[in-house]
Amino acid sequence: MHRSSELSCQVALIPAVFFSLFSVATLAQQSDLRIDGERLNATMAHVKTIGLNEDGGSDRVAYSSHNKDALAYLSELMQAAGLSTQIDVAGNLVGRREGKVAGLAPIITGSHIDTVPNGGHYDGIVGTMSGIEVARTMNDNGVELDHPFDVIVWSNEEGGKIGSRSYRGAIGADEMALQSLGDKTLGDGIAYLGGDPNRLSESQRQAGDVAALIELHIEQGAVLDREGVTIGVVEGIVGIKRWNITVEGFANHAGTTPMDQRQDAMLAAARLTIAVNDTITGTPGKQVGTVGRMQLFPGAPNVIPGKVVMSLEIRDLQMEKVSLLFEQIEAAAQQIAMKSDTSILFKQYYESPAAITDERFKTTVENSANTLGLTSMHMPSGAGHDTQSLQGLAPLGMIFVPSVKGVSHAPSEFTSAQDITNGANVLLLTIIELDKQLR
Ligand SMILES: [Zn+2]
Repeated sequence: MHRSSELSCQVALIPAVFFSLFSVATLAQQSDLRIDGERLNATMAHVKTIGLNEDGGSDRVAYSSHNKDALAYLSELMQAAGLSTQIDVAGNLVGRREGKVAGLAPIITGSHIDTVPNGGHYDGIVGTMSGIEVARTMNDNGVELDHPFDVIVWSNEEGGKIGSRSYRGAIGADEMALQSLGDKTLGDGIAYLGGDPNRLSESQRQAGDVAALIELHIEQGAVLDREGVTIGVVEGIVGIKRWNITVEGFANHAGTTPMDQRQDAMLAAARLTIAVNDTITGTPGKQVGTVGRMQLFPGAPNVIPGKVVMSLEIRDLQMEKVSLLFEQIEAAAQQIAMKSDTSILFKQYYESPAAITDERFKTTVENSANTLGLTSMHMPSGAGHDTQSLQGLAPLGMIFVPSVKGVSHAPSEFTSAQDITNGANVLLLTIIELDKQLR
């Protein structure tokens, strides 16, 4: 009885041992793979010259000639990396590397190369150029993935994530007449890049059409830089809610109305602004809340403000928490209104749901950083990204690299060559690992 159970145990172990020896060998080979950091940073430096302005910033606004020139350069790089390329109907540049298993959906990595006017040289560019470098490294080393691998340059991220949203069918035909950041309408801009605004619906993908979405990006905040950590494992992209708040008091003479007889809308608005800050900071967590706009009416030095229109924005990974914080702020507002003899009304006008990272992706990014001997930490993304507009299509994840002093959307935006190389290596190992896990 004892012997036979020992025997069956040994028999059962044999295939497991074979399997694990085999996997260790494969893993050892592939975890030794590294991207060419010098080559990657040289392509980054070249992209910087396309749209470089006198302030040292980037004027590569979506649908500009600089945008188009940069896409032509990237398309050449993609082809040299063995990718087939096309501009799709939404103006996205798609580079594809075929997989070896027929019928699998693609693993997609992508970011953007358009910038805000007088923007930086890293936001979007790091992820885009790293995606191409990853494909180039796989090509050089004969790595064959099971899944097709798409490197996508999403069009017009800064003007409303137009290219990535088109994959979700979230761009209406009526939006085509809207003005973008540059001098063109969305429709004219898409056509200028080589897309077709009349066939935009063709770019829509359904769940199952994509196997995975992974984006490398600069943090655009100062957390990694301050903590001295190399890799950010993104827990998700925060959800956002925005409200317009109208505070109504009574506009009256600033000289003849005694202090105890005023209905000062500005005073109530100021107290409310402080209440927002107190509520947000008084709750544990990484949520942020901001009053970013305020208009006073009538707006004269000698008139007590009768009305203030102000904004409120709250961001967090948990939408329930956003709602809870809002309820607390609203309750505080009613107290303030009562004390200041004003009325305060909230009207929500915007909501962007949070996109939560897939658990497997977090583990894989963290393991890849460990393999490379890099420090990492978990963190939310406070900024929106193309990958966020793609949520619901496939499991998703993001990798962050440090932004020096957290500066972004400005010429002084900076991420070191070494940090870019590190991020690209994490992207490479993560994609290779996800390719196995998602089979
Ligand atoms: Zn970006």
